Amino acid sequence: MATEAKAWGTDGPGEKLKPMTVERRSLRPEDVAIQISHCGICHSDVHFAHNDWGMSLYPMVPGHEIVGTVSEVGQSVTRYQAGDRVAVGCLVDSCLACGECGAGHEQFCAEMPTFTYSAPDRQSGEVTQGGYSDRIIVREEFVCRFPDSLDMARGAPLLCAGITTYSPLKRFGVGPGQKVGVAGLGGLGHMGVKLAAAMGASVTMITTSAAKGEDARALGAHDVLLSTDAAALASAANRFDFILNTIPVTHNVAPYLDLLKPNGVMVIVGAIDELPGLHGGALVMRNRVIAGSLIGGLPETQEMLDFCAEHQILPEVETIRIDQVNEAWERMQKGDVRYRFVIDMASLAE
Ligand code: NAP
Ligand code: ZN
Repeated sequence: MATEAKAWGTDGPGEKLKPMTVERRSLRPEDVAIQISHCGICHSDVHFAHNDWGMSLYPMVPGHEIVGTVSEVGQSVTRYQAGDRVAVGCLVDSCLACGECGAGHEQFCAEMPTFTYSAPDRQSGEVTQGGYSDRIIVREEFVCRFPDSLDMARGAPLLCAGITTYSPLKRFGVGPGQKVGVAGLGGLGHMGVKLAAAMGASVTMITTSAAKGEDARALGAHDVLLSTDAAALASAANRFDFILNTIPVTHNVAPYLDLLKPNGVMVIVGAIDELPGLHGGALVMRNRVIAGSLIGGLPETQEMLDFCAEHQILPEVETIRIDQVNEAWERMQKGDVRYRFVIDMASLAE
C-alpha cells in the first residue's frame, strides 16, 4: 500500500518551497525503503525548480544527495537489510538492459534514466519525488552502500557534487605531476579541489571571489587565481593540464581555454548552456580538448564513496533545518555557501 511521506517542494517555477506530503509507492520486490537522515542542496535543484532545462514536472520535491538508513526491503532484495547505512544520488532507475547500463553508465541509458525527482516512474508513470523528504523508495540497483567510516551528517553531497567531480578527474587520469584548475568554488568546486588534491595533482582554485581564496587553500588548493583579474589570467596562460569548470551559468570560455597547456583538457560540468567564446583556433593551435561530464554511473558512485572513505574526504557543509531551505537557495544563488547546504531531515518531524 502506498504511504505518505513528509516533504518540502514547489508548485511551479518561481514558487517558494513549502511543506507538502508525497505518496511513496508500496514496496516492489526489488525496492529498498530508506529513512532519510540528510539531503544536500545542489544548484541543479534550483535549475530544476526554475525549469531552466525545460523538463520540469510539478509539484516537485527536489533533492538528489540523499543519505539514510534502510527501514524495509522488498522480497527479492539481496544486498541490503533494515538498518544499513545507504545513499542515493541523481538516478533511481534505468532500463538495465542496454549497453550503457550494462557498462555501469546508467546516466546514459538508451531509454533515458529515471532521475530521482521530476521524472516519470518507469512502471507506474507517477512523477518521482526527491530527497527533501523523510522517506524514499528506490530499487536496489540504484542504492549505494554508505561507508561506516564516513559521517552521515556531512556525506550527503558526495552523491552529486562528489561523483560529478570524481568522474571526470578519473576519466582524464588526473594524478601526481599534473596542474589542475577548478573554476567556481561552490558545492562541486570544493569537492573538485579536495578530490584532485587527494589524487596527487597540484590544484589551483579559479574563483570570482577573492574572499574565498584562503578557504580554497584550506581545502587543499596550492594556488588561487582570481578570474576577474585579467592580468593574473594572462600570466597563467598555458599553465594547466586539466580544468574542471563548475560555473553554473553561460559564460565566455575563451579566458579559461587559454589557461590550458597543449593537449590540456577542460571539462564543463556546470553550464548546460551555450558556451560563448569557443573558437576553434584556441583548440586546434594547442591540441586542446573541451569535454562535458554528467554525474557518474552506479559502480563509479560506489567507487567514489569508497575512495572518500579511504582518504577521509568529506564535504564542508552548513547544516540547516528544512524551514531554512528557501533562504539557503537564495544564498547559494549569490555564491554565499561554504560549501554545501545540507538539510537535517530530523527537522521535518519538529
Ligand atoms: P554552487 O554551489 O552554486 O557553486 C557554483 C560556483 O560557481 C559559485 O560558488 C561561484 O564560485 C561560481 N559562479 C557562480 N556564478 C558565476 C558566474 N556568473 N561566473 C563565474 N563563476 C560563477 O553550484 P554547484 O552545486 O556546485 O553546481 C554547479 C553547476 O553544476 C550547476 O549549474 C549545477 O546545475 C551543475 N551540476 C552539474 C552536474 C553534472 O552532472 N554535470 C551535476 C551537479 C550539478 P566563485 O565564488 O568561486 O566564483
Ligand atoms: Zn546535483
